[in-house]
Amino acid sequence: TTQIRLAARPVGEPTDDDFAFVTEELPALEDGQVLLRTIYLSLDPYMRGRMSAAKSYAEPVPVGGVMVGQTVCEVVESRSERRAVGDVVLAYTGWQTYAVADARHTRRLDPDAAPVSTALGVLGMPGFTAYAGLLEIGRPQPGETVVVAAATGPVGSAVGQIAQIKGARSVGIAGGAEKVRALTEEFGFDVALDHRSPTFHEDLAAATPDGIDVYFENVGGTVADEVTRRLNRYARIPVCGLVANYNATEAPAGPDRLPGFMARVLTLSLTIRGFIQSEFEATLTESFQRDMTAWVRDGKVRYREDVVEGLVNAPEAFRGLLVGRNFGKLLVKVGE
Ligand code: NDP
Repeated sequence: TTQIRLAARPVGEPTDDDFAFVTEELPALEDGQVLLRTIYLSLDPYMRGRMSAAKSYAEPVPVGGVMVGQTVCEVVESRSERRAVGDVVLAYTGWQTYAVADARHTRRLDPDAAPVSTALGVLGMPGFTAYAGLLEIGRPQPGETVVVAAATGPVGSAVGQIAQIKGARSVGIAGGAEKVRALTEEFGFDVALDHRSPTFHEDLAAATPDGIDVYFENVGGTVADEVTRRLNRYARIPVCGLVANYNATEAPAGPDRLPGFMARVLTLSLTIRGFIQSEFEATLTESFQRDMTAWVRDGKVRYREDVVEGLVNAPEAFRGLLVGRNFGKLLVKVGE
């Protein structure tokens, strides 16, 4: 197998020196195990956290360890009755071309039901994150205004569309003209804004004449500074991600904005609740599978994938993800 391992803990944006390519023989299979050939590797913002030793909700990847990640794989050898050669499965085998895994840690996918790549995006972890965070914490009501950034990504695009299914108005924020166009034309957001525009402040005000009832927090940074000034009384903020900060090495410049923000939390009776999607697995997986499969099938939730060819290109693609060079759910096509 060819692996990409964590060579060093990055400071700021990960560099090529933080990753090491290693080719290794895999051990023979033991009972209950399968040999997997990677088809797709999912690249996700949380992986930046795993590269860091800072305390978080999950253990970091050790230096010298294989970079983690969800994959879609084909079973090429099996010593388990659960999986047959030729099965396509969802696994967590990381940045490598082949892996040995416990068959119980794989989930069989039905390639006739949906493209298998969707198990890493709209029908997988990112789609579930949008569903759980928006419906459990955001609780959009008909006629309310929901704002989300990183809105062409797998989480944000699903948030905006689910909000509309629930009768709310969705305002999407993305970086650059092409993404902004896709928000209304492809994903059907009611309004789309460019956070890099010099008129973002005015554009946001014009787009939210009745204020904001749900801010699905995907990014933090300057977008959050602006959006949280337009929140309505009793607004909800599911805190899902802060990707604007993931490469940061110091606090943002300028005055401390926390006191002003906390004053709004108090006077507007805001609800802020962070979450890690896995906490909702036990309660919401079934309804998510049922609802999202139907929404995708009926064209109510559209999705976009950005597929990079070849494991060798994973580090560069991952760097791009953290600064917005991806356009849709970022996947690496590792094998056919
Ligand atoms: P995306 O594919 O949307 O990629 C991240 C996007 O963030 C970029 O494409 C870029 O889009 C945007 N971005 C980067 N920097 C900034 C910035 N400074 N200001 C504004 N936008 C920025 O990723 P996902 O959909 O996979 O993830 C979205 C968020 O959800 C992330 O924060 C992630 O960590 C979080 N997440 C949380 C989970 C949880 O359990 N809590 C689970 C899964 C994801 P653009 O070019 O449009 O600016």
